[in-house]
Amino acid sequence: MKMSKMYFRTLRDDPADAVIPSHKLLIRAGFIRKEAAGLYAYMQPGWRSLRKLTRIIREEMDASGAQEINVSAIAPAELWEDSGRWNQYGPELWRIRDRHGRDFCLGPTHEETFTDIVRNDVSSYKQLPFFLYQIQNKYRDEDRPRFGLLRSREFLMKDCYSFDRDEEGLDRSYQIMYDAYTRIFTRAGLDFRPVEADTGAIGGSNSHEFTAFSEVGESDIVYCPDCGMAATSERAAFADAPAQDEEERPLEKKLTPGTKTIDEVADFLKLPKEKTIKALLFVTYDEETLEENGYVAAFVRGDRDVNMIKLVNALHIPEHCIDFADEAAMSAATGCVGGFTGPKGLHDCTIVVDSELPGQKNLCAGACETDHHYINMNYGRDYTGDIVTDIKLLREGDPCPVCGRPIRQTRGIEVGQVFKLGTKYSASMGAYYADENQKNQLVVMGCYGIGVSRTLAAIVEQHHDENGIIWPVAVAPYHVIITVMKPKDEVQMEKADALAEELTRAGVEVLVDDRAERPGVKFKDADLMGIPVRITVGRRAGEGVVEYKLRREEEKEELTIEQAARAAIDLVRKEGDGRYLLEK
Ligand code: ATP
Ligand code: MG
Repeated sequence: MKMSKMYFRTLRDDPADAVIPSHKLLIRAGFIRKEAAGLYAYMQPGWRSLRKLTRIIREEMDASGAQEINVSAIAPAELWEDSGRWNQYGPELWRIRDRHGRDFCLGPTHEETFTDIVRNDVSSYKQLPFFLYQIQNKYRDEDRPRFGLLRSREFLMKDCYSFDRDEEGLDRSYQIMYDAYTRIFTRAGLDFRPVEADTGAIGGSNSHEFTAFSEVGESDIVYCPDCGMAATSERAAFADAPAQDEEERPLEKKLTPGTKTIDEVADFLKLPKEKTIKALLFVTYDEETLEENGYVAAFVRGDRDVNMIKLVNALHIPEHCIDFADEAAMSAATGCVGGFTGPKGLHDCTIVVDSELPGQKNLCAGACETDHHYINMNYGRDYTGDIVTDIKLLREGDPCPVCGRPIRQTRGIEVGQVFKLGTKYSASMGAYYADENQKNQLVVMGCYGIGVSRTLAAIVEQHHDENGIIWPVAVAPYHVIITVMKPKDEVQMEKADALAEELTRAGVEVLVDDRAERPGVKFKDADLMGIPVRITVGRRAGEGVVEYKLRREEEKEELTIEQAARAAIDLVRKEGDGRYLLEK
């Protein structure tokens, strides 16, 4: 490809709305272009890279025995009503209506559609197990689309579904996909880790997120360097502090003027924060009407934080059906008092008490009265909870739920997730097969997603420097860029063309920068675009000598044209499909 003919443009400046490297660089390097919030066009090099990533995914899915199909991106509301998710999914579901007034959604994921296909086609156990998958755009009307391809409203996803006779079959299918994902992300050049995850709006019992390490990621993960435990912090269990066998002292109400925070009250009463109870107040909404339907007060030890996912799981409501309460409104309804709320004295709200509090003695909590706290609060005697369960958020240094040693916390980008769905969808939507004894059984399902476009951005997050992207060879839009110093010089142009031809014949993908630009501009663009090999054809072209440089290394070397061609061909043979990384 001659760059003088290529439809593309690099930008000198970062786009105003971009704050993270992948967003800035993909736009500046001319790979993507913004159309509207969370909607992007892939320009020529961006589309090439995305296709390469797609190829890796397709190869690994096919090798795992999965069969590719392609369903409509649009799904009728009835299917989503069958599964119960039409309301449950919340405002992220992109609803549309046809001219006859019938409701549809743009698929954010396709469990319903695939279950529908299978419930209509599968009758006998002999047809099971199998995997179906597709690679298709998904639509989610994200609250805050941001970070370019990392959180967009239209994004490319590979979604796969497994259909088994029983749980043992599902375990095998899950493992097959888990292994395929490990190979896919390895070949894509990512530094990642599978971590135990919450099952979220998809539902089901068991799940892992594949998380690419990155400071800009929105997944909080905790892991234990000692025992290997790794989980999202949403999911990670929290071992309760050991119960105390202190004697219960008499309850006392104390005047604590102006002490609205845990720090202030602990300071004022000279108590350690572990001896206090922290209150968090929420309002909940009806799944269907989205109208307010109640209040929740959640209590944890003063030095802890509430984990919102654990809280919504405890309440059995979707994530979008809860929000922080307006204190004035909640105060009138429940008797809470902003800054002085405790579990004693509340009414007309659901009280959720963290599982560790009942074992902790003589605690201090708000008295539901301005400027007052109780001390010596004890569970059972002075307060109770409607729900008592683990709602704590795990943080750096807290004890590992498996081995008790301090855990580490880090951030990552969720690039894929695998779920054991079990019979959630087959039961709600009626997908059965007849077993050996002609008895009807529910199909047991798993689902497996990869955010393809998000993965592309994650690769950029892990592979760039201040000058631009440094693509791993397997996902680079082109392998080699031949920079011609003076395109008007016939010898230089001839040598460059001949080299490009030779490389192309050997399966190497070549860009020839023959633009009438200054060399500095060309080098900058080559770096920005992240092409793995740069071969510069300049003043020594006549002698058959060129400059050879890898984007990922500093050194340049002068090589004969033959040597340069050999080196590039060898590099692409070795690294071209990323498989060499599997052996590392
Ligand atoms: P998140 O927690 O980041 O919102 P999710 O858990 O809702 O993601 P899944 O339903 O598991 O996402 O979707 C499968 C994959 O699709 C995710 O692992 C992720 O890589 C990708 N993905 C999800 N939402 C987006 C988005 N808005 N933009 C780009 N990719 C996305
Ligand atoms: Mg997910």
